[in-house]
Amino acid sequence: MNMISKKVVLITGASSGIGEATARVLSEAGAYVVLGARRTDRLEHVVEEIRAAGGQAEYYTLDVTQLEQMKAFVDFAKQKFGKVDVFINNAGVMPLSPLNSYKVEEWNRMIDVNIRGVLHGIAAGLPVMKQQKSGHFINIASIGAYEVSPTASVYCATKFAVRAITEGLRQESRGDIQVTLISPGVTESELADSISDEQARITMIEYRRISIPAHAIANAILYAIQQPKEVDVNEIIVRPTGTH
Ligand code: NDP
Repeated sequence: MNMISKKVVLITGASSGIGEATARVLSEAGAYVVLGARRTDRLEHVVEEIRAAGGQAEYYTLDVTQLEQMKAFVDFAKQKFGKVDVFINNAGVMPLSPLNSYKVEEWNRMIDVNIRGVLHGIAAGLPVMKQQKSGHFINIASIGAYEVSPTASVYCATKFAVRAITEGLRQESRGDIQVTLISPGVTESELADSISDEQARITMIEYRRISIPAHAIANAILYAIQQPKEVDVNEIIVRPTGTH
């Protein structure tokens, strides 16, 4: 039997890019997927397409910066499918800019979505997994979790934090819970659309010319989920070939 058949997988940030591709790929592999994000129309459309292809999917309008909404997202999934096997903390934003442009509101937004959002996912999902005595957290970091580049210091700081939190969760999990960090390199998505700084935007357009499709990251996530309970894939980095 397919190892992910009927696994219940919650995905934040599933309205576009990597989250959307992951919902489609995991559904094709037999998972029951629950999609969360703010853009309800986009979620509705993806869920309709997954169902039309024969998959089982639900969506929930979700802002990951709000703990109560995250808890309600988990409750919704439990109510629909009875359990939570995998929680994918994928939602993220990347409005890059140099520190001396003082875009404090954008710094705070990255901290709120990229760090607090992941912590809210853990706060909402971990109690359920502990009770089940099984579960799998997949947190999406970035190659920016390993090195810093100009205009990306706050974004990289949030991804360093995701890496630290994920490692801490792994160390504390003691057998019941699998924990995986996935770090994509440049991947086709809408991530760079939120850059308001003109110079950072131009630099990113050039930098993002060599990219991989979002389903390349979804396939790495699928690999981690396919493992039996006693095998914990801790970390996967996926880059376009030849990039650094
Ligand atoms: P997209 O912009 O296409 O997707 C980001 C997703 O996050 C959207 O579904 C968006 O949905 C969601 N999101 C943003 N803010 C919130 C919020 N407050 N609450 C709930 N959902 C939110 O980009 P990617 O697919 O590329 O990004 C996915 C992850 O991959 C991010 O964590 C990103 O940092 C990471 N990553 C991406 C790389 C790339 O090159 N693409 C490289 C390295 C890491 P909505 O707006 O509907 O809420």
